[in-house]
Amino acid sequence: MDYLPIFLDIKGKPCLIVGGGEVAGRKASLLLNAGARICVISPALGPSLSKLREEGEIRHEAREYRQGDLDGVHLVIAATDDTGVNQRLSKEAAARRIPANIVDQPGLSSFIMPSIVDRSPVIAAVSTGGASPVLARLIRGRLESLIPSGYGRLAELAGRFRDRVKARFSNPTDRRRFWEDALQGGIAERVFSGHEEEADRLMEQALAETGPSDGVGEVYLIGGGPGDPDLLTFRALRLMQQADVVVYDRLIAKPILEMTRRDAERVYVGKENNHHVMCQEDINRLLAKLAKQGKRVVRLKGGDPFIFGRGGEEIDTLAAEGIPFQVVPGVTAASGCASYSGIPLTHRDHAHAAVFVTGHLKDGSLNLNWKALAQPQQTLVFYMGLLSLPYICRELQAHGMPADMPAALVQKGTTPQQKVYTGTLGTLTGIAEREQPKPPTLIIVGEVVKLRDKLNWYQGAEEAALKASQPFEPEAWPKTGQACS
Ligand code: SAH
Repeated sequence: MDYLPIFLDIKGKPCLIVGGGEVAGRKASLLLNAGARICVISPALGPSLSKLREEGEIRHEAREYRQGDLDGVHLVIAATDDTGVNQRLSKEAAARRIPANIVDQPGLSSFIMPSIVDRSPVIAAVSTGGASPVLARLIRGRLESLIPSGYGRLAELAGRFRDRVKARFSNPTDRRRFWEDALQGGIAERVFSGHEEEADRLMEQALAETGPSDGVGEVYLIGGGPGDPDLLTFRALRLMQQADVVVYDRLIAKPILEMTRRDAERVYVGKENNHHVMCQEDINRLLAKLAKQGKRVVRLKGGDPFIFGRGGEEIDTLAAEGIPFQVVPGVTAASGCASYSGIPLTHRDHAHAAVFVTGHLKDGSLNLNWKALAQPQQTLVFYMGLLSLPYICRELQAHGMPADMPAALVQKGTTPQQKVYTGTLGTLTGIAEREQPKPPTLIIVGEVVKLRDKLNWYQGAEEAALKASQPFEPEAWPKTGQACS
């Protein structure tokens, strides 16, 4: 280890910054966050430091650094490009044992500044010992995504209960286990979702318990997005990795399912047209039952749970039974497919609205407001519309949409098997008959489809293999028989 990482208490302590540019400004903000009293010495100040001076946050002396400036100073940072000043300052600080950082000059510095993730009071600091600040920033980026923004509040909760937990568990192992459960389970999740009073109540309850907890679990209704695992939210991923049980259906791509906790129980409740493995009421009841057994239940849905996902119905039962739940939004198929096929859903010249419509046929007819849908300057996105494609194309034309209105089918959007077929309202049905796109497929209708010629950027592996005349083994979606669209 070339450096010892430590955290300095500089609250109310006089600190000196030499230099007035933007780098000096960033250092000043950092020191201010830690409560320092700052004096900046520099003939001139850049915009950030000028602002801090106007706000009375720093004291400024408009001159060059000179001997004696380090009197009474607890810490000094130099951000100047004057080598002479840097060297003098480094020497004088060393002689007086004052910690000094000369920006970008580890050789002249007695300490270096890490990249930090600030979830105060939780702070993670990363250093590469000055070897590569960019690498340190990249690592920090990863930590940012791993450490939820609510960790600061979680640490505060831990602080509030620290003494009582210590008094309750004299054995350090028991104490550690207790904290491990509290800091990564339901209590932590209550804090992250803004239910701190509830978290405090659960802490009280856990402290009062003598045996193992028989409390109610929690259900996380999570949008798994359209297929590409990279499109999961941080929250979705975190909760997926805490699951005791994962309840999923047909739309969940295999790579996403594999991101759930390895030893979680997995329950397939696939819903397909005319072929329900489990009906909606049974799924609702199952979620409630599992949570009542104290389990953390992840209900994983394709896309966004609140867009044609019946998410509302599933949590309705939970709410009625007083079972805690969270809803985590996901990228809906319309957004995912539009982005990955280079078709913007709105555009100043072509579409002022985007309408998401269900194309699911009930009793052979689609009861939609066709007149409103056929209006110009809007993009229509049909979910579950593959079977009713001929009907949709016919009705839109019958209500005034021109036969040459551009339209597209996006098969398995955002996955390696994505395929996009473009045509018009007049030709799309024929294209589908010939190409036989596989579910899930989305239909996009509107002038914006034309933009794909220019904006297309993503190529699925299947298309790439086809172009290179190589075999492609589709792996990403579980095969579960007939599907609804
Ligand atoms: N809640 C989901 C939609 C469920 S309805 C969401 O927000 O995306 C199921 C329909 O979504 C499918 O019939 C299909 O039309 C569409 N769909 C879902 N994922 C898709 C994908 N990766 N590519 C194309 N269409 C998709």
